[in-house]
Amino acid sequence: MRSSLSLGKLDSIFITHLHGDHYYGLPGLLSTKMMDKAFKPLSIYGPKGIARFIECSLDVSFEHLGYHLDIIEYQAEDIFVFNKFTVKVLPLVHSIESYAFYIKENDISNKLNEEKLRAAGLEPSRLYGELKKGRDIIFQGKKLESKIFMLEPILGRTLIIAGDNSDPGILGKYLYNLDLLAHECTYTQDIYDNLPVKILHTTAMDIGEIAEKNHIKNLIVNHISPRYGKNSKMSVEMILNEIKLTYKGRVFVANDFDVYTLGRDRIVKKRHERK
Ligand SMILES: [Zn+2]
Ligand SMILES: [Zn+2]
Repeated sequence: MRSSLSLGKLDSIFITHLHGDHYYGLPGLLSTKMMDKAFKPLSIYGPKGIARFIECSLDVSFEHLGYHLDIIEYQAEDIFVFNKFTVKVLPLVHSIESYAFYIKENDISNKLNEEKLRAAGLEPSRLYGELKKGRDIIFQGKKLESKIFMLEPILGRTLIIAGDNSDPGILGKYLYNLDLLAHECTYTQDIYDNLPVKILHTTAMDIGEIAEKNHIKNLIVNHISPRYGKNSKMSVEMILNEIKLTYKGRVFVANDFDVYTLGRDRIVKKRHERK
């Protein structure tokens, strides 16, 4: 609600895992969407248990949403197909089940080179459809080959948005050449090494090395421990600097509500905040 996104337009929510800091805001959001009179259906994707949580909180408050709510409990390796992209669910390593979402924009591979077709004397017509389907055609007695008139495919953008995870390498082949990885980075290495009890999170050193090794083009880290920040001797810059020791790509430390765009040029930019 405090972000620049519109509740009315919201139609899908993906939850990475069932630690409270990652989804306890859901019931409030669901009932606010109702008051907003935004009746667009909503789908929530989450690990096993998410349905019980939502149904229970709606049940005890006698909440009737007034819009269609779909709850989908996913499993590792599930693939969800959307209009312009697919989402694949990948398992992570954490103290409870935790997942990442590998999002792959569809390639655009059936675009015709209309300029070239016009130069060959062929104006837009039914024949364009045939060529697009990969069929060769006869035009004015001459055979025109489909593949000669197709543009190079435009490869879709790829990104991973990961939940809490202590082993970024588990994402394996999906990391290689990735356009954008959004991943947690809770500690710098020395702080982590001195924790009395180890918990399953990633350090700046780990994520920097993994991102560099896999030629990841852009990295956004979040889930920074509150011990780094304004009211502490340790600044968030320490996280950034440690990542930059190994990673030479573009890196951002995200704050809540930040908005980033991943352009077709594969460059991530931060959108400036609306105050
Ligand atoms: Zn967690
Ligand atoms: Zn967490």
